[in-house]
Amino acid sequence: MRDLRLPLSSLVAVLLVLGVISAPLQGCAGQPKCPVCPRPSVHEPPPPPPPPTRRRATVKQPAWPMSCAVGMPLLARQAAAHLHLVELLAWFSHTRGERSYKRTLFVGRERLISRRTLAFIKQCISEEKDPTARLAYRYLRGYLATAYIERKTASLDDQLSAAELGATVKLPWLAARVPYRNLPVLLVKEKKPARRLAINQAMADVRRRVLNPLLIKKLVRSQELAQWMGYRSYVDLSSQVRQVKLGPLITLGARFVRDSQPLFDKLMASVAKESLGVPLSRLKRSDHGRLFAAPKVRRQLPDKLMLPTFKYFLQGIGLDTTTAAGTRILIDDSMGPKKRYRAACYPLVVPSDIRVAVKPAGGLSAWVTLFHEGGHALHFAWTKTRRWEFQQLGSLSLTEAFAELFARAWEDPAWLKRYAGFIREVRRGKHRKGLTKGLGRVRVRPLGRRLMGYLVRSRLAYNLYLARRYGWAKLIYEVALEGGSPKLFSSVYRGQTADRRKLYRTLFQQAYGYKLNEDDADRYLSDVDPFFYSADYARAFMLADILHEHLRKKFGRDWYSNKKVGPYLKSLWADGNRYTAEQIAARLSVPLDYTASLARLKRLYQEAEVLSGRKPARPRARRVGRHPGPRKPCKPRRGAVKCKIPR
Ligand SMILES: [Zn+2]
Repeated sequence: MRDLRLPLSSLVAVLLVLGVISAPLQGCAGQPKCPVCPRPSVHEPPPPPPPPTRRRATVKQPAWPMSCAVGMPLLARQAAAHLHLVELLAWFSHTRGERSYKRTLFVGRERLISRRTLAFIKQCISEEKDPTARLAYRYLRGYLATAYIERKTASLDDQLSAAELGATVKLPWLAARVPYRNLPVLLVKEKKPARRLAINQAMADVRRRVLNPLLIKKLVRSQELAQWMGYRSYVDLSSQVRQVKLGPLITLGARFVRDSQPLFDKLMASVAKESLGVPLSRLKRSDHGRLFAAPKVRRQLPDKLMLPTFKYFLQGIGLDTTTAAGTRILIDDSMGPKKRYRAACYPLVVPSDIRVAVKPAGGLSAWVTLFHEGGHALHFAWTKTRRWEFQQLGSLSLTEAFAELFARAWEDPAWLKRYAGFIREVRRGKHRKGLTKGLGRVRVRPLGRRLMGYLVRSRLAYNLYLARRYGWAKLIYEVALEGGSPKLFSSVYRGQTADRRKLYRTLFQQAYGYKLNEDDADRYLSDVDPFFYSADYARAFMLADILHEHLRKKFGRDWYSNKKVGPYLKSLWADGNRYTAEQIAARLSVPLDYTASLARLKRLYQEAEVLSGRKPARPRARRVGRHPGPRKPCKPRRGAVKCKIPR
């Protein structure tokens, strides 16, 4: 176990961010040599420029004494090699609980990942005439700017990883201590609400004592470094890298929150009652994992069938796990105690070495996660562009949209009916020589119409939760936390922002629709996506719904059994991450907003009500000009009392 006492520097940083000691120290602002001059806190304006001698010494020295034609391909090769090793270590850290050695990864990369390299690329961008090359250079510059912050905070990341890995908690009803990383799985599996609350408490305790002091150091340091590189703020750097305008995105999110509020209230109340047997007012953050795992369909989603179902889904649309290079996507679905709960896709080499890590903790969320990561994997596996920058860098809003496209099959009755058919076939032993080979007998309950209705409602509630969290609460919160301009959200949020912990609690409890407690509020430093990944998620959710509506229109309601869908998707995947979600939406002739999400939400909600028998099915419109004519006269068969009425 690590020393859990709060170091003095952390305490100072905590007090700075909480605004407790910022006022008396402000007398040093603008005096670089002031003996007690503190590091700029997140409350203060950008730090003063560094002393002239230091700046002259670093910027004037050429990092790459060569032309752009020679230098840029060299930089791309070195950056690709570095990212490859980063991903490889991340894979072992994720799947085996391997310790993080991030700091080691940056040894020898000081020249590549430096401010001087960024200046060199900036110059090459201004000189480059070819728009494709210019875009690739921009992606590389964005990547190296974020890598610069990662290099300078690598030791903090290593400490965080080791602290998380080493942390264990004692739960009164279990004999052995439980690794911190295994607690989210326990939260999903635990049936008793009081125990879930105790697990949540134990997690909050680790966050408070072990993780938050390190996270606050990283937060302050990252903001300093963004300004040191010449960006106005960390928010400015992130917006440029993600190619996103945060202000309009927050406004879109706020409108969607308002327009979907009545359905969100209905869905959350219904799902809380159906899944956990409690009213919405008694719901807690600790119930979250279990709530969205849809426990009522646990027996219809056995862990053994998770991977075969994904392969069956791919089969239906004319795909499999083969890559464009002819290799297979590697899927690790082991249950090691040190393996991380959150699933992830690692595109080690695009398109030949693509890996997916998923922990089947049971329930719907694990299945949906596999489909999500499978969507990423297929996108990378069928990326055909040879430019490395478009294979791996740029905004990730597009790859997240393809991932969500697959994940969002689970609220579509068309797919659920297909899955119900698959279950029937498995029960009859049809797939024993193919998809379920080697699994022995798989016990699975049939999926009836009422359960399908419940499943659709659970998924819709979860999607709304995601949109409210990432497209609204998180964006506002992270702009405030990272020292961005309040103008970005002032049209939709006018509350206090100085106390970050309080702000987190206010925004997220409004987004979730129920109250958060003190333990939940302590997530205010760990529940932060680096470099505004939340903006990529928000755009991905919109595009995923647009893609769903588009495929439905182009290939029919049951596009899940149309083998032409796969080749069509491959044509969208071929350019990798070159285009943003906005550009792909424009290619489909629609703006990137929540119109499709709202339409799909309303339609699927109605379908769920019909499936559950809460509303009668709408009569199908008769085809004009093709009247079936009078029914044939009914004749009873020989020996039968009643005749069979033809339908
Ligand atoms: Zn993803």
